[in-house]
Amino acid sequence: MRFSRLRLTGFKSFVDPTDLVISEGLTGVVGPNGCGKSNLLEALRWVMGETRAKAMRGAGMEDVIFAGAATRPARNFAEVALTIDNADRLAPAGFNDVDQIEIVRRITRDVGSAYKANSKEVRARDIQMLFADASTGAHSPALVRQGQIAELINAKPKSRRRILEEAAGISGLYQRRHEAELRLNSTEANLLRVDDVVEQLA
Ligand code: ATP
Repeated sequence: MRFSRLRLTGFKSFVDPTDLVISEGLTGVVGPNGCGKSNLLEALRWVMGETRAKAMRGAGMEDVIFAGAATRPARNFAEVALTIDNADRLAPAGFNDVDQIEIVRRITRDVGSAYKANSKEVRARDIQMLFADASTGAHSPALVRQGQIAELINAKPKSRRRILEEAAGISGLYQRRHEAELRLNSTEANLLRVDDVVEQLA
């Protein structure tokens, strides 16, 4: 499973459709200050299901939409499409029977985000789980933003453990455990309510 293509439209400074082919091996992005290098990395994180606007250096998620410039009006939506080469069939269950996976995330002003996987509408959670199971994703330590190395050196042991867990490929299991705990709590609350009703009827 390998990222092979990234397409951006109206995402931050990439107002015009921009198509980037990601070749095998190491990819470097070079350019003058402010040309959009970090925006590219953020696009990658965003299409994998990032939910924190702050991680996108914005106050709200709609800040990823092209905000306009002196000569160009603001856009109404932003879209990022990530193509994943799955010739090795290493994608997690549900996606492992296709040669290629295309994930698309689009955000529209006053509407919010919508996701598609190979043209089929899916939930944010499905995308987040796909990448968590593949030991990557919006929060992957493989995506290193500016200043993050210094943060890592000063990090608490618990944060460092998260990186080891990610490397061990168990992030998806943690997410599922958390969701199971939430369901358990809500079921326990429902049972208490049932007890109350039964008591009132008795
Ligand atoms: P540096 O080398 O200084 O870290 P960089 O190449 O990583 O810079 P970015 O931080 O990716 O550059 O891009 C910053 C540019 O993106 C700024 O010019 C900023 O105005 C522009 N930008 C960010 N968000 C938007 C938006 N929503 N609409 C239009 N332009 C935006």
